[in-house]
Amino acid sequence: MIAFAHPVSAPSRMAESLTGRPYLSWSAISTFMKCPLKYQFHYLDQLPEEFVSANLIFGSAIHSALEAYFGEHLASRRSLDVDDLLAVYHSTWSQADLAAVQFGKSDDLVSLDALAKRMLQAFMDSDLACPTGAIIGIEEELRSPLIADCPDLLARLDLLVESDESLIVTDFKTARSRWSAGDVHAAEGQLIVYHELVRQFADKPIRLQFAVITKTKQPEVEIHTVAADPLRIERIRQLIQRVWAGIQTGNFFPVPNSMNCPTCGYRSRCASWTG
Ligand code: SF4
Repeated sequence: MIAFAHPVSAPSRMAESLTGRPYLSWSAISTFMKCPLKYQFHYLDQLPEEFVSANLIFGSAIHSALEAYFGEHLASRRSLDVDDLLAVYHSTWSQADLAAVQFGKSDDLVSLDALAKRMLQAFMDSDLACPTGAIIGIEEELRSPLIADCPDLLARLDLLVESDESLIVTDFKTARSRWSAGDVHAAEGQLIVYHELVRQFADKPIRLQFAVITKTKQPEVEIHTVAADPLRIERIRQLIQRVWAGIQTGNFFPVPNSMNCPTCGYRSRCASWTG
């Protein structure tokens, strides 16, 4: 992890006393924005989830396979093949407690295996598998106090590549279908935070991009760039300040939503919540 040398701030100490972590990650910020009650159950109460969504393990397994691919590339410039990547994918699944996994209506291990193979092949066939530049970071953690009166922010960069012109920050996503401009807009805060953290050591322009692999019959690999302009940066700063203020006030409440609730591991607990 690159933790820039700063004294631990009072907000970071407060975050640690609340959550056991002296920082805020984008994942925590995004969980709070989607459902404050889920944030409370997960980050403050640290309650175990009733089940784990197969989608979550699937995304994490694909992610691990890509990490292994670039790790091997960095270490030996050797390219792993699809079977190697599938072995990493299976290794992630082998650590899951299958009895606690909730599969989608039309999914099971076999269908997800076949989908993973198609997605990893699509990745291997795409430009994403041949980055133009030198890989300088894989799963690199950066942490720094970026915003006044807020805890340190933490980033985990999936892939950091340096070309002659720029530093390229890539975050991998798996998605049910191709991303719309609205999907990119909804997710861009994560990359803006990464931009602000990378900017502290960057000596060239930073390019931000999501690499989205679709979970479709014929998976596609799409690159979506995000511009870190001053307006977006300020908007995200303001948003994080308000999220942190919300966490401190302890005003946690459920936000039922057909997108998030079906895969939420706190559904029973949420159903009996009365405030
Ligand atoms: S079930 Fe829905 S409303 Fe309840 S905690 Fe989970 S995400 Fe929030």
